[in-house]
Amino acid sequence: MTKPMKRIIGLILPLLMLFLGCKDSKTDKSKKEPEKPERITVTKPTVSFTFDDGNTSDLVGFPFEEWNQMILAHLEKENLKAVFFVTGNNKSDEKGQFLLNSWNDRGHRIANHSFSHPNFNSEKNSSLVFERELKKTDAVISKFSNSIKLFRFPYLKEGRNTAKVDSIRNVLANYEYRNGYVTIDASDWYIDQRLKKRIKEIGLERTEIEKFRDFYVEHLLERANYYEKLSYEINGRHIPHTLLLHHNLSSALFLGDLIKTFKEKGWAVTNADEAYEDPVFEKIPKSDFAGESIIYALAKQSGEYDLTLRYPAEDSRYEKGKMDQLGL
Ligand SMILES: [Zn+2]
Repeated sequence: MTKPMKRIIGLILPLLMLFLGCKDSKTDKSKKEPEKPERITVTKPTVSFTFDDGNTSDLVGFPFEEWNQMILAHLEKENLKAVFFVTGNNKSDEKGQFLLNSWNDRGHRIANHSFSHPNFNSEKNSSLVFERELKKTDAVISKFSNSIKLFRFPYLKEGRNTAKVDSIRNVLANYEYRNGYVTIDASDWYIDQRLKKRIKEIGLERTEIEKFRDFYVEHLLERANYYEKLSYEINGRHIPHTLLLHHNLSSALFLGDLIKTFKEKGWAVTNADEAYEDPVFEKIPKSDFAGESIIYALAKQSGEYDLTLRYPAEDSRYEKGKMDQLGL
């Protein structure tokens, strides 16, 4: 090989390698998935658990620390992590801090459910009120290591008209929050209300707790199956659901039975923060259809369920007659 030839090869080879190297790393990069949290793929009906409000009162003879611990124990037994959507107004005192720590320390996520639980469909609660409510609770929860920027609308009401829904959505985005959507809505709060009333009236010993438990489990499974069927029709696949429950006595007494029954009926259970990584939660319904469960809103938006969707989606009015009849 002549000297100039050697020099040319000497120049070209590193350049060629550099070129190939670049190309290689480029193809490598394009092969990699974009850096997003790993998503769970679900192949059967799957549910996760979310709890709203955060009550710090003793309930009909059950000390607050005790009934709260009962909920945590049910979750711990199943190795499940929940998202706990809290109102800020009762969380700064000693009991409120105890409650938040008890959830945070066990690895559950703490999220925002406004400060004073206003109904954003009401005229008087503007997007300015919304911003104040979000900020005040954010200040209470953001110092917890497991806080997560999800906002759950009180009563699942996101504003009655398009302009307000849009301006509230802007506030959410400005504070880097996402909607902590519910996929399965139900009336656990109403069953809880009647259970406590009964215990107050006739005492714990005489209250037929099992009958309340059976109604509670049956009601939640029934609503879960309804939303799962609707969701499957809309999405063409199973999604990891986010079930709306409340931080109350019925969760303390019946959550274990509820999880057990879900499993017996062929459902899988999963962690709520992982459920929220599913692409279904990026499908924001148009402002005209905002509110209620995200599945309900998407169904309404499709225009194919106008004859079958009831409004409100869930309410005590649908359960009252059944409970009266059963003597609950
Ligand atoms: Zn609430």
